[in-house]
Amino acid sequence: MSGAASRACPKDTLLTQFADLGLDKPILKTLAAQGYETPTPIQAQAIPYVLEGRDLLGIAQTGTGKTAAFALPIIQRLIHRKRPAPRRGARCLVLSPTRELASQIADSFRTYGQGLGLGVAVVFGGAKYGPQVRALAPGLDVLVATPGRLLDHLGEKTCFLGETEIFVLDEADQMLDLGFIVPIRKITQHLPKSRQNLFFSATMPGEIGKLAGELLKDPAKVSVAPQATTVERINQQVLFVEGARKRELLVELFANPELTRTIVFTRTKRGADKVAKHLEVAGVGAAAIHGDKSQGQRERALAAFRAGRVRVLVATDIAARGIDVDAVSHVVQFELPHVPESYVHRIGRTARAGADGSAIALVADDERPLLRDIQRVTRQTIPALDRRRDPALAVMAKANKALDQQDGGWEPQPETASAKPRPQARPQARPQGRAPGRPQGHGHGHGQAHGQHGPGQHPRGEGQANRQPRPEGQASRPQGRAPNRGGGGRRFAGG
Ligand code: AMP
Repeated sequence: MSGAASRACPKDTLLTQFADLGLDKPILKTLAAQGYETPTPIQAQAIPYVLEGRDLLGIAQTGTGKTAAFALPIIQRLIHRKRPAPRRGARCLVLSPTRELASQIADSFRTYGQGLGLGVAVVFGGAKYGPQVRALAPGLDVLVATPGRLLDHLGEKTCFLGETEIFVLDEADQMLDLGFIVPIRKITQHLPKSRQNLFFSATMPGEIGKLAGELLKDPAKVSVAPQATTVERINQQVLFVEGARKRELLVELFANPELTRTIVFTRTKRGADKVAKHLEVAGVGAAAIHGDKSQGQRERALAAFRAGRVRVLVATDIAARGIDVDAVSHVVQFELPHVPESYVHRIGRTARAGADGSAIALVADDERPLLRDIQRVTRQTIPALDRRRDPALAVMAKANKALDQQDGGWEPQPETASAKPRPQARPQARPQGRAPGRPQGHGHGHGQAHGQHGPGQHPRGEGQANRQPRPEGQASRPQGRAPNRGGGGRRFAGG
């Protein structure tokens, strides 16, 4: 990667306009219609290089506007050098680690390329082959794909990349996490030697640096955040709390009306289901998204969250990757991730495209080493508040425990004969909608919190003793609707 160039720093690009970047009028018109007034720093830096036909190495997190940073100049290049798309092939290939991100990238190309007659399609696993084969057959201007399914198509010869002009690798570090490096190397063997390469990653672990070195020729280098540093606009906070009291603290956080659109991260798929269920029972609309959910379930959950029908999306890291939802006000980490970089990815779900955001991490004593790693990698000390031995949480936990016992414990019953609603065992005093909580969801105010979340208002949730993280790969209990074991919380059920 010798000769890598660095463009102006974001400070210098603040006043850049889209029109200054060399984009054509139809694209400028579309951007104006989208309400994009000024380019984001990654766009201001990257677009001129891509228009020149340079290879590019972009260090940028999601939420920085990097999709438009490559999609806009690619569209312009495809239009300027108009030629028929190769049969079963694509003039531009974009590889994305997840289905959600792939769909969003394809949507972005369609939006930005409105009226320009571009053929855009997306292929990913978990969907039928037939429609994908038919979409590929006539040839495409832009193909967005996840690596595994694309390799299948290449193997079946339903896709051909020998005439691809532009290759984009997005979220390269996530590709590494998901084990896609070998498939990517196989895919690149199908590409012609002469092509333009764009490579995006939020972080640059060694393996990714090596891959970039193999793929890129004299790349321009643009960066909007130094390696693994945390997005500065995000207001971060750590709350120390006993592992067994996290669910009470989580519900208490949602008394703060500022948590309008929140993603809660759990480490495990089963944990995501349990947390979503607990929130719903507590009157906080939530939907879970993770690897065991079908494509349809994931899309429905995401649509409900996007439309504001549920206030909370509970997600595992893998499921959350590439989700582009505007105006996520808060990210809550119910458990810290084992990999410090994931912390950066998680909080990057908020504060997208220039907005501010908040990130709250619930940290139990046994997670302190993980927190230390995160602080070391992100070179910061995150402000912390100690909510351990908090009397308000203790009272709520006691109430939940009593209700758990009343209902025979939280651990889900086998979903066979018992899958019908249980008798109402729960007090009905839960308020409709959001609990009228403390204005600052993570302040002290112990006694006050207790008054607002009395035992009658706190439905039961997961049993403390049972909240053992399970490895990601372990099967979670079957999906589908769990029996309504609460006394009315289902009113608030979301997506
Ligand atoms: P991305 O980082 O590509 O996932 O983009 C994050 C979000 O920012 C998306 O919802 C885009 O629609 C939005 N966005 C991208 N560029 C701009 C811009 N220049 N002005 C306003 N919003 C933008």
